[in-house]
Amino acid sequence: MPPDAGAPTSPLPLPTLSREVLAELYTHARETYPEECCGFLIGPRDSALIDEVRRCVNEQNRYHALDPERFPRTARIAYYLGGRDLRFLMQSFETPRPVKIIYHSHIDVGSYFSAEDIRAALGREPDDTAEPQYPVDHIVIDAQADHVAGAKMFRWDQRQRAFVQVAEYAAELPPAS
Ligand SMILES: [Zn+2]
Repeated sequence: MPPDAGAPTSPLPLPTLSREVLAELYTHARETYPEECCGFLIGPRDSALIDEVRRCVNEQNRYHALDPERFPRTARIAYYLGGRDLRFLMQSFETPRPVKIIYHSHIDVGSYFSAEDIRAALGREPDDTAEPQYPVDHIVIDAQADHVAGAKMFRWDQRQRAFVQVAEYAAELPPAS
């Protein structure tokens, strides 16, 4: 493959999120607080459109309870996709309506792409050859106790071999008092 053939992931224009889709993400993050929510954003192939939000189950607490040594983190600081959601994800890439974005929320710490997020996206520790496991972008939602403070989208940059921020979304309006 020539060096400029482009990243193997996400060669499309940045996905565009409507107000409604963003509102659904923020609602999900509020509902699961103080645990991380996670889910998929789906839309027609070969288009930047996102027209479906699919909530996933954060299995982190279940695995943490079963095997705290292998899963030391709780759902407050991590998300883990179960087999059913992972199968859906994998199969979606063969359909006209692939998953384009995996989203999850962060609890009280801000919407940065953490070391744990990088490991989850690569499926291993980052090094000189690690590549993303799935052809998706990532959105991290900044969930705070009384509101959602915004969100950011991250995309794998093949040249930098890193996830870089490519979009930022405003906070929801605070509830009217
Ligand atoms: Zn995270």
